[in-house]
Amino acid sequence: MTAILSNLQATREAVAQAIKAAHRNMTDVRLLAVSKTFPAEAVREAYQAGQTAFGENYLQEALDKMAVLRDLPLEWHFIGPIQSNKTRLIAENFAWVHGVDRLKIAERLSAQRPPQLPPLNICLQVNVSGEDSKSGVAPQDVLQLARQVMSLPHLKLRGLMAIPSPANDTAAQRIPFAQMRSLLENLNGQGMMLDTLSMGMSHDFAAAILEGATIVRVGTAIFGNRNYGELK
Ligand SMILES: *Cc1c(COP(=O)(O)O)cnc(C)c1O
Repeated sequence: MTAILSNLQATREAVAQAIKAAHRNMTDVRLLAVSKTFPAEAVREAYQAGQTAFGENYLQEALDKMAVLRDLPLEWHFIGPIQSNKTRLIAENFAWVHGVDRLKIAERLSAQRPPQLPPLNICLQVNVSGEDSKSGVAPQDVLQLARQVMSLPHLKLRGLMAIPSPANDTAAQRIPFAQMRSLLENLNGQGMMLDTLSMGMSHDFAAAILEGATIVRVGTAIFGNRNYGELK
């Protein structure tokens, strides 16, 4: 058995255990395999093990892999920071974008989404407390941005995404995820019908699932440690 196959199986088991512990349904949580820095052959191997949704952070790297893997029915998610000069290729080549945190980017993605494709699925990145990066909309501004994004024709707002800074124990990990859950509940209380909480990575997906994650983005646990030196 290859490492990717056995890692995928172990990850699926751990996800299933967390779902059980949270008393949720097995179909409530999707596993997004984050393949950044790993070659197309690694993605193909994961596909052969039943994985179809893949997350990428770097546009050119993703486009190169897509070209090689065109024979496979894969669903590509853009999860990295979005520069405005990259929106066209993102809008043309991905099914989901997880890191939208400002209106200008959303407007460009909508305008550049080819009309013959289904609407681009969007998650708004939120800068919850404890978030490392500077990206993400502030929690108090989420409602306004969500309303604006919902009005754009070629986007489908699905929910919220976050990358909290690493914490060591489950109790600490759950705090920002619980905040995210309540932010989503607030939006849905305003009449939105959002179904997605994109949160949880290799080190904290169990805590995220306990707080309602519907997509966990897992890289290292599936593909191994990343070597950025080789890539760039
Ligand atoms: C790299 C990355 C992941 C995967 O992280 P792991 O710790 O390797 O599981 C998830 N989400 C985002 C936004 C990432 O950039």
